[in-house]
Amino acid sequence: MKIGFIGLGNMGAPMASNLLKAGHELTVFDLMQDAVDKAVSEGATAAADIPTVARSGAELIITMLPAARHVKGVYLEDDGLLAHVPKGVHLIDSSTIDPMTARDVAAKAAAQGNPMLDAPVSGGTGGAQAGTLTFMVGGEDQEFAFARPVLENMGRNIVHCGAAGNGQVAKMANNMLLGISMIGAAEAMSLGVSMGMDPEVLAGVINTSSGRCWSTDTYNPYPGVIETAPSNRGYTGGFGMDLMIKDLGLATEAAKATGQPVVMGGLAQQLYQSMSFEGHGHLDFSAIIKRYMKGEE
Ligand code: NAD
Repeated sequence: MKIGFIGLGNMGAPMASNLLKAGHELTVFDLMQDAVDKAVSEGATAAADIPTVARSGAELIITMLPAARHVKGVYLEDDGLLAHVPKGVHLIDSSTIDPMTARDVAAKAAAQGNPMLDAPVSGGTGGAQAGTLTFMVGGEDQEFAFARPVLENMGRNIVHCGAAGNGQVAKMANNMLLGISMIGAAEAMSLGVSMGMDPEVLAGVINTSSGRCWSTDTYNPYPGVIETAPSNRGYTGGFGMDLMIKDLGLATEAAKATGQPVVMGGLAQQLYQSMSFEGHGHLDFSAIIKRYMKGEE
């Protein structure tokens, strides 16, 4: 299929690579020339700007951008996608943004004859490279059916979450719970170890008991418990604390818009925010345990 791809960053670049490997023809654009050059070296065609991608003959255009303001810019500005894309071209935004913006852009696209899905991902850069991402998809049934085979070239789990915006809702709810559960894991592990428990024994008990969760059994924040976790390599790599703050911000904003309380989500956002303020925003989010370990900053 002829596909346009805009946003070749940490996630978009490997996703575009996997589409090329699957045999699709790609026309790409990014503000960073290096990112475009790399995709071209893998077989993509470079576009000079967004209107060129829109009019490249692509049947489908995928965007993978940092945040809602970039999505609004790329889709809605005078030199953006909607102003230039021919009727009938399919659109997918895989950026993580708030559901309200996703619904607004999708409604504007649909009104001019361009069916659009929101399809944020989980799985991180490792999943993007390996082609094992989870896609949480919002939009019409027939549009989901159209997009599914293409998304399968980049991911392993492709989940239809309902109408437009629901992909973002699913991602937001999951990541809010992850942010909260990591703080719970950090508190419980630190309390237990401070009172004399061996961290591995404590994690073993939790992981066979009712406190078990992904933050304890796969990504335990206490160093030395899970060999592959960022806590075992100085909290480098993994899922950056600033990205977690962004996702918790989406959840608290959505909660404000709907009048829904997210007490723990709001508290979690502030805890991560205070660590980022002190210069730790680049570390993996499980570094929040430093708040609870004596001798750590
Ligand atoms: P990134 O900052 O590495 O990449 C974004 C790319 O978009 C950059 O190359 C930038 O130049 C480009 N861009 C920005 N504005 C543009 C414009 N107007 N026109 C063309 N290109 C433009 O971000 P990322 O890590 O690839 O993340 C992308 C999205 O995926 C974000 O919404 C993020 O929250 C989400 N996400 C990231 C991860 C992760 O682990 N990095 C995991 C899951 C989801």
